Amino acid sequence: MPLRVLSVASELYPLVKTGGLADVTGALPAALAAHDVAVRTLLPGYPAVLARIEGVSPALALPDLFGAPARVLAARAGDLALFIVDAPHLYARDALYGHADDALRFAALGAVAAAIGRGAVAGFIPEVVHAHDWQAGLTPAYLANGDGGGRPGTVMTVHNLAYQGKMPAGLLATLGLPVSAYTMEGVEYFGTIGFLKAGLRLSDRITTVSPSYAAEIQTSEGGMGLDGLLRARAGVLSGIRNGIDTAVWNPAIDRHLPARYDAAHPDLRAANKAALQTTLGLAPEPACPLFGVISRLTWQKGMDILAEALTTLIGGGGRLALLGTGDAPIEAALHTLAAAHPGRVGLRIGYDEALAHLIQGDADALLVPSRFEPCGLTQLCALRYGAVPVVARVGGLADTVIDANEAALAAGVATGVQFAPVTAAGLDAAIARTLALWREPRAWRRLQANGMAAEVGWDRPAAQYAALYRTLVGQV
Ligand code: ADP
Repeated sequence: MPLRVLSVASELYPLVKTGGLADVTGALPAALAAHDVAVRTLLPGYPAVLARIEGVSPALALPDLFGAPARVLAARAGDLALFIVDAPHLYARDALYGHADDALRFAALGAVAAAIGRGAVAGFIPEVVHAHDWQAGLTPAYLANGDGGGRPGTVMTVHNLAYQGKMPAGLLATLGLPVSAYTMEGVEYFGTIGFLKAGLRLSDRITTVSPSYAAEIQTSEGGMGLDGLLRARAGVLSGIRNGIDTAVWNPAIDRHLPARYDAAHPDLRAANKAALQTTLGLAPEPACPLFGVISRLTWQKGMDILAEALTTLIGGGGRLALLGTGDAPIEAALHTLAAAHPGRVGLRIGYDEALAHLIQGDADALLVPSRFEPCGLTQLCALRYGAVPVVARVGGLADTVIDANEAALAAGVATGVQFAPVTAAGLDAAIARTLALWREPRAWRRLQANGMAAEVGWDRPAAQYAALYRTLVGQV
């Protein structure tokens, strides 16, 4: 019998996605199936989800889910087995987050997860409940404050500690939590109900998405107020790097690429460059190294640092193709930069999966100057696509790219360029190093080839999650 795991998340690729969380929750179930783990994912019933699920059947009636009746639906999306919280009063809106009642919306997700965890759906009684990010953070709290019967083991995964879900303390009774839960050992967090804090305090195991980030979040610099709690729980905290879906991200069959290629034929990427230059209005200059960026435009991602380093990049003969969406002031600053460098900086503000693939399939290098990065996925895609990653030496970026220092070059193992500190000067130096490497075709080919051979899929991380789940079975 496979081990049964209920994964609880607010996003899942390909149904709903705003970031890497969706990629992870969407890809992990198939990878875990190979390790004899059967995953079902519990998702809010957003309109985009309800419109795309198949094989729908009612699994559980909920007479009053924070103010109105609701249902749990069992459903499928491709090979993904799902439970959907069908609660129009909470989820029938287009934007996923940012609503006045987000506390209720995501408490409901946790409460339903706990009910299923305690066996409310006879057809699927999980042995482990795996909660992702603050939106699912109350799941362990509801399980801990239940009726005292048996409960499954719990895992809380932090995809980004910056998003903590701090909600007004006055909602405690509304959320159905007892007064006794409002303590430092429970859900209380600096005078609020801390959704993520609750999950981190009350789950049996904590994971985050890379070993380096697991260490960083235990420091006062990286802990964002939770480092003390995380140090206290270091014995149950581990880092498991994310993978990418190597079927979705495969340059040999990628329908978004005019020219498909594999590790034996990276030269074919040149044809893609022409397509991207046309798409983004870049001057057609195949002899210039093209740097790509695919990113949310936020302080975390270091886009202001990139803006400062642009002179070095352009001055050194480089070109920039940037795809991103996010904070309005950063978008405005990037528009100004693009206007100042016509034909040399191609900018697309927006979310565009096809263009993300095209950039990976033709950029010579991919820049990721994040101030912190729990794992990062774009550098993993870049490795697989032969776009040499140039990354800040933080979190998962530090764990997944081998810097082209002298020793790594001599040993023939380098896959990219790392830089520290994460400042404009640091990025300037990294860009200069990258340009120098690009001018040595043999060294550059080697970097590309090493990257394309690097392990970026889910096999290893899935084995680690499966092993972690098995430590919980029969232990709780
Ligand atoms: P985060 O989750 O912090 O945004 P990650 O690197 O973990 O960063 O994951 C980002 C994911 O979203 C990647 O799959 C990346 O390709 C994709 N992505 C980010 N911005 C865009 C965009 N503007 N258009 C298309 N895909 C994007």
